[in-house]
Amino acid sequence: MILPKFEVESPLSVEEAVRLLATLKVAMPLAGGTGLIPALKLGLHNPSVLVDLESVEGLEAVDCTGAGVYMGACAPLSVVAAEPRIWKDWRALAEAAASVGGPQLRNVGTIGGNVCLDTRCWFYDRTATWRQAVERCLKRGGDVCLAAPRSQRCHAVFAADTPPALIALRGRVRTARWSAEQCIRRERFMEDLYCDEGSRGLQLDAGEIITHVIVPPVISAGEYRSGYLKYRLRRSIDFPLAAVAVGLRMADGCMRDVRVVLGGVASAPIMALEAMQELEGREPNAEVAARAAQAAARAARPVPNQATTPGQRRLMVTVLTERLLCKLTSDQYSSARRDQEAMK
Ligand SMILES: Cc1cc2nc3c(=O)[nH]c(=O)nc-3n(C[C@H](O)[C@H](O)[C@H](O)COP(=O)(O)OP(=O)(O)OC[C@H]3O[C@@H](n4cnc5c(N)ncnc54)[C@H](O)[C@@H]3O)c2cc1C
Ligand code: SF4
Repeated sequence: MILPKFEVESPLSVEEAVRLLATLKVAMPLAGGTGLIPALKLGLHNPSVLVDLESVEGLEAVDCTGAGVYMGACAPLSVVAAEPRIWKDWRALAEAAASVGGPQLRNVGTIGGNVCLDTRCWFYDRTATWRQAVERCLKRGGDVCLAAPRSQRCHAVFAADTPPALIALRGRVRTARWSAEQCIRRERFMEDLYCDEGSRGLQLDAGEIITHVIVPPVISAGEYRSGYLKYRLRRSIDFPLAAVAVGLRMADGCMRDVRVVLGGVASAPIMALEAMQELEGREPNAEVAARAAQAAARAARPVPNQATTPGQRRLMVTVLTERLLCKLTSDQYSSARRDQEAMK
C-alpha cells in the first residue's frame, strides 16, 4: 500500500492551523497519524495538504493540577494513561487510554485524534482493489449498505476507546475554526460531538479542529467511581468490538449520577438510558447489576460489519456492564450483607 503524495503544513498557532484548513484546498488535520496514515494508504481520503497539529505550540500538555483534567488535543495517549491523578479520580479515562491499540500506538496517537477517529466497517476499511470488487456503499457515495442492505443509512462502527469514558465523566471539547477572517472558538459536551450515522458521525464544521479535551472535577458529594472495559479479539492491539464505560457516585449506600456509555456497538457512543434508570438511586447488588446489564444490551445496535457477530457483541455488552458494575460496587454490597448478618 503506497502513501499518496501530499504537502505538509506545520503551523505554530491554532489560528494559523484553522486558517490553513479553511483556505487550502482539500486539507485535513494530522495529529499522530496512527488512524489517518493507514486510511490514506487504503485510499479512503485524498488530501492535497495535511495540517500538522503537533507543530502547534501548547497542544500537547496534560494538566490535572487544578480542578478537572485539561488536555491539549495533541497530548499522547501514553501520557494520559500514565498520569496517577487520572487513575485516582477519573479512572475510566485512564483505563480507556491505556487500552488503545498497543504501546507504540499510544506513544504516537493523541487524545484529539482518538476523539476524531473515523468510524470503521469491514466493507469500507479495505484496499482500493478490494473495494473495486464490491458495490459502492453509502459511505463511499453509493446507495446501498453492504452490511445491512435493507437499511437506508451507514452503520460503520464508532470504535474509539476514550470518548465513551469521556462522556461517562461528563467531558467537554473546545474547538476552533476559521470564519470571516477570524478564529471562532466554542465549547460543547462530548456527547454532542457525535451522531449515530456512520458516514457523518463527527459533528465538526469543515476545517474545525479540537483544541482541548476537558474533564470536570468529580462530583464531590459521596465517593465517585468510574471504569472502562472493552471486548476485543487480540488483547495486545485491537479496536473494541464492544465496550462499556460507567461513572457513578456512591452516597448513603446508593448509586447516584450514574452514566453508562457503550462503545463499539453503534455509529456513535451510546448513552444506555434504560440501564442508567435501573441503577439511579438504587443500592448496588448482583441482581440490580444483572438487570442494568440486560438493559444496556438493549441499547446496542450492532450490525454484521465487524470481526464477530452482532449477537456476540450484544452479549458482551451484558457481560462487560455486569462485570464493571460489580467491580465498581461489590465492596458496597458485601458491606450491606455484613450489616444484614450483624443484625441477625
Ligand atoms: C493497529 C491499530 C490498532 C488500533 N487500535 C485502536 C484501539 O484499540 N482503540 C482506538 O481507539 N484506536 C485504535 N487505533 C486507532 C488510532 O491509533 C487511535 O485512535 C489514535 O488515538 C488516533 O490518534 P492520532 O493522533 O494518531 O490521530 P490521527 O491519525 O492523526 O487522526 C485521526 C483522525 O482525526 C483527525 N484529527 C486528528 N486530530 C484532530 C483534531 N485535534 N481536531 C480535528 N480532527 C483531528 C484526522 O484528520 C483524522 O481524520 C488503532 C490503530 C491501528 C493502526
Ligand atoms: S456500514 Fe454499510 S454503508 Fe457504512 S461503510 Fe459499512 S457497508 Fe458501507
